[in-house]
Amino acid sequence: MKLIFEKSIESRTAVLPPKTDVPDHFSIKAQLLRDKSAELPQLSELDVVRHFTELSRRNFGVDTNFYPLGSCTMKYNPKVAERIAAYPGFAHLHPLMPQLRRGGMLTQGALQVIYETDIMLREITGMARFTMQPLAGAHGELTGVMIIAAYHRDRGNKKTTILIPDSAHGTNPASAAIAGYDVLSVPSDKNGVMDIDALRKMVNEQTAGVMLTCPNTLGIFNPHVKDICDIIHSVDGLAYYDGANLNAIVGKVRPGELGFDIVHLNLHKTFATPHGGGGPGAGPVGVVEKLVDFLPVSLVEKRDDGTFVLEYNRPKSIGYVAPFYGNFGIILRAFVYILMLGKQGLRRVAENSVLNANYIKKKLENYYDLPFPGICKHECVFSAARQIKNGVHALDIAKSLIDAGFHPPTIYFPAIVKEALMIEPTETESKETIDAFVSAMIAIAKKTETDPHQLQGAPKSTPVSRLDETRAAKLLDIASIDRFF
Ligand SMILES: *Cc1c(COP(=O)(O)O)cnc(C)c1O
Repeated sequence: MKLIFEKSIESRTAVLPPKTDVPDHFSIKAQLLRDKSAELPQLSELDVVRHFTELSRRNFGVDTNFYPLGSCTMKYNPKVAERIAAYPGFAHLHPLMPQLRRGGMLTQGALQVIYETDIMLREITGMARFTMQPLAGAHGELTGVMIIAAYHRDRGNKKTTILIPDSAHGTNPASAAIAGYDVLSVPSDKNGVMDIDALRKMVNEQTAGVMLTCPNTLGIFNPHVKDICDIIHSVDGLAYYDGANLNAIVGKVRPGELGFDIVHLNLHKTFATPHGGGGPGAGPVGVVEKLVDFLPVSLVEKRDDGTFVLEYNRPKSIGYVAPFYGNFGIILRAFVYILMLGKQGLRRVAENSVLNANYIKKKLENYYDLPFPGICKHECVFSAARQIKNGVHALDIAKSLIDAGFHPPTIYFPAIVKEALMIEPTETESKETIDAFVSAMIAIAKKTETDPHQLQGAPKSTPVSRLDETRAAKLLDIASIDRFF
């Protein structure tokens, strides 16, 4: 494909601007004009439409095909939420518009959405109050750990360590370290969950808290989760629940009832708002009653007359964590999604996401190694250990799936599984789609034995084949892209 400038043809145009009616004496003086004309491609409207349509078709997204990227919950984002988020009354709001006086009624609806989303998330998680400000899951974690620190400071506790299982998402130790804690990694037991005996030995007066993902990144629910919270509480530590992937338990179990004190949720995973490409997200953080005072400023409060205001008078707060009130458009989409599904609908999310993951696990168990057999929750983790005997790695399997039309699963994570392939189908996929994916995975497993070279050369169907992914992301060189076409 040619770059847009290479398609340019002298004096071709898509618009015919009217002749200028600006009198001559208003024209810009010659010495103020740039010496070269502004270089714009000269194209017809059809050229432009084709160029951008072509580019858009190179994009892979949930709207194009199955996207089983483990731990990312790439579920379908219903279009009704997009439609409502685009209503001018929401989309054109400015965060500096008044809350009440002079035109304040224009912002009351948005404040109500934030307030009521908070109430629904409390109901879902068993927490006492949420901040809707954090802009991503990792940002929610940092906010949560800052709240842990504020709690201990307030009580005069001298605590220095946070315990995190070795299967954790990398953002957990990063967030704890940025908040100033030493991170201790707790090993997993033979069932793939945090080893409770190891935890018992590691907990002491220095322990500020634990950060736990449950079900964890292997898709396994830790049966000792309540005991873990009790152990942490016995030294006045706090239990943090990484609820980025609440899909498996939403509507079924409340982290608050398991003993957790702080929860973050990824609205851009479980609650069907768009993500990917580093786009806007939202990682609201909920806390139990004893931690509400430490939540960031501001919080939306409802007054006796039914109006909503932003409350800033919070002396024990950790302060601001985001400009204005976070990614409102994302919160709004989650609000629509939760209302649309209701209690029963959210339960079915959990049931179907778990069913789909177990279906894939069962269908593929004869073809790929399963380091932790047995029932999983929302995702299942295979290992390509068997395939590497023929020189085929998890990376080759992932790239071959692209040629079959599927987005690859997450690979090489969690790090405790060798050659990991982490598959999360989500609840929104049909049996037909999942069966097609399973067939592709089986075909790849068979090809490993007959033609491993083909897999090692994949993908072949894309504009560019194998890239150094780190360099491609960090040193993106758009100008040289045409070399690949
Ligand atoms: C995605 C994820 C996070 C981080 O969320 P971001 O929005 O990407 O910052 C944290 N923990 C788990 C388990 C996740 O899957």
